[in-house]
Amino acid sequence: MKKYTEMNHEELLALKKELDKEFEEIKAQGLALDMSRGKPSNAQLELSMEMMDVLKGDSDLKCETGVDCRNYGVIDGIPEAKRLLGEMSEVDPEHIIIYGNSSLNVMFDSIARSMTQGVMGNTPWCKLDKVKFLCPVPGYDRHFKITEFFGIEMINVPMTPQGPDMDMVEKLVSEDAAIKGIWCVPKYSNPQGYTYSKETVERFARLKPAAPDFRIYWDNAYSIHHLYDDNQDFLVEILGECAKAGNPDLVYKFTSTSKVSFPGSGIAAVAASKANLDDFRKYMQVQTIGHDKLNQLRHVRFFKDLDGLHAHMRKHADILRPKFELVLDTLDKELSGLGIGEWTKPHGGYFISFDSLDGCAKAIVARAKEAGVILTGAGATYPYGKDPKDSNIRIAPSFPTLEDLGKAAQVFVLCVKLVSVEKLLG
Ligand code: PMP
Repeated sequence: MKKYTEMNHEELLALKKELDKEFEEIKAQGLALDMSRGKPSNAQLELSMEMMDVLKGDSDLKCETGVDCRNYGVIDGIPEAKRLLGEMSEVDPEHIIIYGNSSLNVMFDSIARSMTQGVMGNTPWCKLDKVKFLCPVPGYDRHFKITEFFGIEMINVPMTPQGPDMDMVEKLVSEDAAIKGIWCVPKYSNPQGYTYSKETVERFARLKPAAPDFRIYWDNAYSIHHLYDDNQDFLVEILGECAKAGNPDLVYKFTSTSKVSFPGSGIAAVAASKANLDDFRKYMQVQTIGHDKLNQLRHVRFFKDLDGLHAHMRKHADILRPKFELVLDTLDKELSGLGIGEWTKPHGGYFISFDSLDGCAKAIVARAKEAGVILTGAGATYPYGKDPKDSNIRIAPSFPTLEDLGKAAQVFVLCVKLVSVEKLLG
């Protein structure tokens, strides 16, 4: 098939007529499909159901140091949970604090704490005229919502397949003391599925920020979420790298079991230097008497160790892989060579990132909705919901069944074709 961008007016008009007809036919099917959020499917949730049975009325509910997990006590996590999440985060358990059910909540708290209390003795951000954050784009909408909520100015930094544009990051953080942080999803990034290269991680660890309270918000949400056994991305461990570079306090590393066990009912953790963790603890001691230790116990007894986690993630991958491949095959078959879109081919994580012709993303999402397919809102992958090129769309293949996903992918490619033709016709 000829590139759309090389077609003349008549050819485009004829194509539009055909596509309009196809669109009306698909619309008439009255589909109601959702590809908007990165939620595990029911089949994936079923994988963890045995976890509900590991704690029973007659179970021993003491953690390994003998503390009764039914009662108050142990504010920053039972030792076996620190070990499990430590293994998952590739850090020593003493560099871990276990939190509650959501890592996003811990990120929100970290910004809130920096705002009102300051970072390790520095001026609270709320007392400064201006606070800025770097935002690799496209990125995770909920990160951007947090910084927007606190009135922090967000600066777009373009992503590359190796990670954020590090020349820009280095320059900005070394020149501007108002820049206090950067959002990073370093492995199987949301939405592109990119993993930061060794060089990128090393450059992050060696940053020389103008602000002493600058922190890298390293959200390693997809650390063990591979799609393939034999084709996995590798991410250099940042905490060790920062320590080696003489910057031990530069990073907060977040993780959770949300997409390992149950989203919203997993356990979250932070890994950081001792000085940073002491800062976290001071706040936490006022904030709570402790998190849900029974849930920590449940997770440890179910997964046991890193091998247990990996074995479990292979079962997730068996469910997710065909879904990614179905979407990627459809994009390849239907859109390759047409010059109207580009997309990523991740080895893990939860998303595929699609870039349309400039100025088409909103219209594609609107068309898909008209045909009964809900996509993540166009613009959501950018701070303030503003994609300057209106071209990026996040595809989340995890939730629908394979059958529904097949239909949704067909709707998507049709909408891309239709909107592109309309754009080219002007
Ligand atoms: N970080 C990223 C990059 C995510 O994609 C998600 C889930 N969509 C989260 C954090 C949320 O994690 P949690 O459930 O632990 O808050």
